[in-house]
Amino acid sequence: MNAEAFARLDALPRQPLAVLPTPLTEAPKLASAIGVPELWLKRDELIGFGFGGNKVRGLEFLLADAQANHAEVLVTGAGPQSNHVRATAAAAAHCGLDAVAVYWGREPASVQGNLRLTRMLGAQTRFTNNDDRDSVDGGIDEAVLALARAGRRAYAIPRGGACALGVLGHVLAARELYLQCDARGLRPGRIVLAVGSGGTLAGWLLGTELLGAPWKVEGVTVSRPAPEARARVLALATEAAALIGVGTTLSETDVVIHGGFIGAGYGVPTRAGDAAITVAARTEGVFFDPTYTGKAFAALAALAADGLRDDGRPLVFVHTGGEPALFTDHARSSE
Ligand SMILES: *Cc1c(COP(=O)(O)O)cnc(C)c1O
Repeated sequence: MNAEAFARLDALPRQPLAVLPTPLTEAPKLASAIGVPELWLKRDELIGFGFGGNKVRGLEFLLADAQANHAEVLVTGAGPQSNHVRATAAAAAHCGLDAVAVYWGREPASVQGNLRLTRMLGAQTRFTNNDDRDSVDGGIDEAVLALARAGRRAYAIPRGGACALGVLGHVLAARELYLQCDARGLRPGRIVLAVGSGGTLAGWLLGTELLGAPWKVEGVTVSRPAPEARARVLALATEAAALIGVGTTLSETDVVIHGGFIGAGYGVPTRAGDAAITVAARTEGVFFDPTYTGKAFAALAALAADGLRDDGRPLVFVHTGGEPALFTDHARSSE
């Protein structure tokens, strides 16, 4: 383990939000349903803050930075069903800050799921009226400028929370799992998780490298084409390493991201994802979501069906959250 790197990481300010460590639970019936010998779930959906999910980990660093910069308002954005935006709104409320959410597209007629929670948390919501997801980036800049003109100090968090500081939260997630496995004598062969904006996988890969952990980490893209996701993940891991003053030997070939599970598009449920949601619910009483974890677990099931072996070593699936999407009219596939 690169103890010096972790010491530097531990010395960075963090705003406590999550209840850590999140549980690591065995899922034997789900394992036999997909034909693998041993499967564990890292339960970040039970992270204990603001309806949960992986985004809370990055926000602990981002909120500390925002407060050190005397921010009064957090500005971020993504799609209207964004878990990241909802978790940011919760963190803002918790810390006594205001929040502005910038969403792509038009305001939906019906307010459901995460959008509903985000408004309930007191965030101001704006729509770019442009279906191009990149329109959010300009929208965030504009909102920050408008706030500055009104004399308010705003702190911008990039779309999806994917930035070097946020990545560090997921480096700590890798260490957390490492310690949990150590305490139980578990030696996982592979960790699998969903990839959206890429910060989570970047942190897990960097953390794995710094720990010298004996497992492979693999992502499943639910949003961008795999080659684009790979490049982003590598860039984010490299920036995050620089932030704690370490080099990384990660190269694009170390970033394994499975494609082919997005279906019609980001946030559009697939039949395979629905099947994964159903089997997890009925074998373990665990809820996956249609946008991220359902699709990522569908990929894991497909790998298992192709005969993934890992010498019989345990698999860990990171449950990154996202259940509020289940409470929308578009939670099931129409394929
Ligand atoms: C954001 C998110 C992810 C992916 O994380 P990225 O850092 O954007 O790649 C996975 N699962 C859920 C539920 C998420 O909200």
